[in-house]
Amino acid sequence: MQTSPGTSLYPHLLAPLKVGRSTLRNRMIMGSMHTRLDMEENGLHKMAVFLAERARGEIGLIITGGYAPNTAGLIEPGGPILTEHAQARELQQVTDAVHRHDGKICLQILHAGRYARQEECLGPSDIRSRINRFPPRAMTPAEIEQTISDYVRCALLAREAGFDGVEIMGSEGYLINEFTVLRTNDRSDAWGGSAENRHRFPVELVSKVRAAVGQDFIIIYRISAIDLVEGGATGEEIVSLARKVEAAGADILNTGIGWHEARVPTIAYPIPRGAWRFAAARLKRAVGIPVVASNRINKPELAEEILAVGDSDLVSMARPLLADPHFAKKVREGNGGAINVCIACNQACLDLIFSDRSASCLVNPRACRETEFDEGPAATPRKVAVVGAGAGGLAAAAEASRRGHRVTLFEASDRIGGQLNLARAVPGKSEFDEMLRYFGGRIDEGGVDLQLNKSPTARDLGNGNFEAVVVASGVHPRIPDIPGIDHPKVVFYNDLLSGKRHAGHRVAIVGAGGIGFDVAEYLCHSQPDEGPKARGLDIAEFQREWNIDSSLTQPGGLAGDPLAPRSSPREITLLQRKATRPGVGLGVSTGWILRSSLAKRDVKILAGVSYQRIDDAGLHVLLDGVPRVIGADTIVICAGQVSNRELFDELSAAGVEAHVIGGAKEASELDAMRAVEEGMRIAQAL
Ligand code: NAP
Ligand code: SF4
Repeated sequence: MQTSPGTSLYPHLLAPLKVGRSTLRNRMIMGSMHTRLDMEENGLHKMAVFLAERARGEIGLIITGGYAPNTAGLIEPGGPILTEHAQARELQQVTDAVHRHDGKICLQILHAGRYARQEECLGPSDIRSRINRFPPRAMTPAEIEQTISDYVRCALLAREAGFDGVEIMGSEGYLINEFTVLRTNDRSDAWGGSAENRHRFPVELVSKVRAAVGQDFIIIYRISAIDLVEGGATGEEIVSLARKVEAAGADILNTGIGWHEARVPTIAYPIPRGAWRFAAARLKRAVGIPVVASNRINKPELAEEILAVGDSDLVSMARPLLADPHFAKKVREGNGGAINVCIACNQACLDLIFSDRSASCLVNPRACRETEFDEGPAATPRKVAVVGAGAGGLAAAAEASRRGHRVTLFEASDRIGGQLNLARAVPGKSEFDEMLRYFGGRIDEGGVDLQLNKSPTARDLGNGNFEAVVVASGVHPRIPDIPGIDHPKVVFYNDLLSGKRHAGHRVAIVGAGGIGFDVAEYLCHSQPDEGPKARGLDIAEFQREWNIDSSLTQPGGLAGDPLAPRSSPREITLLQRKATRPGVGLGVSTGWILRSSLAKRDVKILAGVSYQRIDDAGLHVLLDGVPRVIGADTIVICAGQVSNRELFDELSAAGVEAHVIGGAKEASELDAMRAVEEGMRIAQAL
């Protein structure tokens, strides 16, 4: 084993692994992600730069996003596909780029099956998914045989393109997974019925691909380790499939968790770290080939512990490699504390992809935009002031100091973080602390002069004291014009989440935006008159909450309805004036989790209200023109924010070079993603 400063801290993560005739330099895999980069102009070049950066960061193995083996398998028209020699030649720039940094790379072959968002949508049976408007047509036996041949062709083309192997995507509810379970396979021929028949498709696939590519090429099979849908596989069936796939020639068993249509969340921040390791551990006990644990593994200490106790042989991290391309290198250097940790927000990765844009990362806006950012120092170091140490100010100060500017960071309060400090009270959002830790470390490293409890005036910043000022002074809560707004029952969200004020048993929340929903979730998980605390997440509690059967005796690993009602310590009503569906602006991949959680706890959500007044009885509203009183002990105001931008206006008027970012620039639609990106980009331009 190569010795390095990290070896004593992370001996298991850093142990090389022999796979067939290849050797992986460590046990860390970058899991497959559909970034949409390859759908952009000059996309393959951008993809090559993106992946090369991860290989330079010493990841043990990279798995690409899914490539369809034929047009019916496309996830959407125009999606990645590998069916021709010309495409293989083009992909060589990607494999060359990774190999230049001694990396290894496998191409994932993914047939979308009934999830294909296109007219030509095929499945084992004609059973439509609730998440796809296109109904599938049941494949004929000839089409099944042809599809197997298409997988073989795709694997051979991947070898021609220089890949070290392929991953055959058998999980998440795509075609292969659909063949394996009764939920989506009601065939009565050789490809359906008994488990033996339902497993025939993946087993034939793996054995034919192995026969075609020889022993010199890695085959990873990604098995659905728990389906999390009604009518899914039992644990016994999963183990039986795993053993057959091993016998058919797979080198590594990767694990997928949950179908895309599952009503159980699998990767977002409300899921505890390491929540799914049990599913990999079951398989590791059943097969002889190396098994990969995946989902919500974001820190090296956790990854090391999973390997050390023998729950898996490798760990797969996809989003964590967006957040920090040099994750593995920092592990080898024993510098795990310097890793930019994925906070599982999904805001800049999945949510961008779901809105047809390329992925990036909230905590690392360089991700998938590597060609747009300059990594070198600034041509001329300058004296720069950054005012406000929230998300945007921290990013600006960290990046400006990295580029060699002399930076002073002013913060009015006694700590860095701004609005991020409020997030940790919300279940799961204590992950944001990682962001503060990371950026705090970077400003230390960059020698930033951090001045807490300081609110400099335009005069302090002007007069030649600084050559440029970045105003990141954030926002303050909007005070809605409701008679009785100064009633003692009224509490503003920042005072509630920071613990200055508490809420009683019956609560009305004015404003159903991102913060209104977060406040409701916080209140559902804290006792009346209890203050906020950083809420770590408990795996057993998470399993109870969503009715997960970790013994996998039940089909799909579900012990009951994931959306079954739960008790709440409070009666909560969430209100908005708009008549539109509340929560429509929440993240696509996380909003449904919040909505489900509140619905389970009987939180009432009212749209189209008009606020009349607040008094001892509670909140008086008009709903459809009819007066109504929402009886409440506490009325929490979450009515958006107003920019703090006076300083910027004063600096501009005084002729000082000033730049305004984040909430200070634009309070509406403020979010940490925009603030961090603006901070990074302005620091690049200084
Ligand atoms: P927001 O999403 O803009 O919501 C503000 C809410 O206040 C709306 O429901 C709005 O609805 C209401 N409102 C606006 N003006 C009002 C007034 N004068 N009187 C009464 N109600 C008023 O803002 P936010 O909730 O403060 O969140 C701030 C930002 O953080 C948002 O961009 C949000 O996306 C982000 N964030 C996101 C999440 C998440 O996605 N989970 C969580 C936290 C924060 P009506 O005007 O219809 O009443
Ligand atoms: Fe992780 Fe959020 Fe970055 Fe996605 S955007 S990779 S979830 S930190």
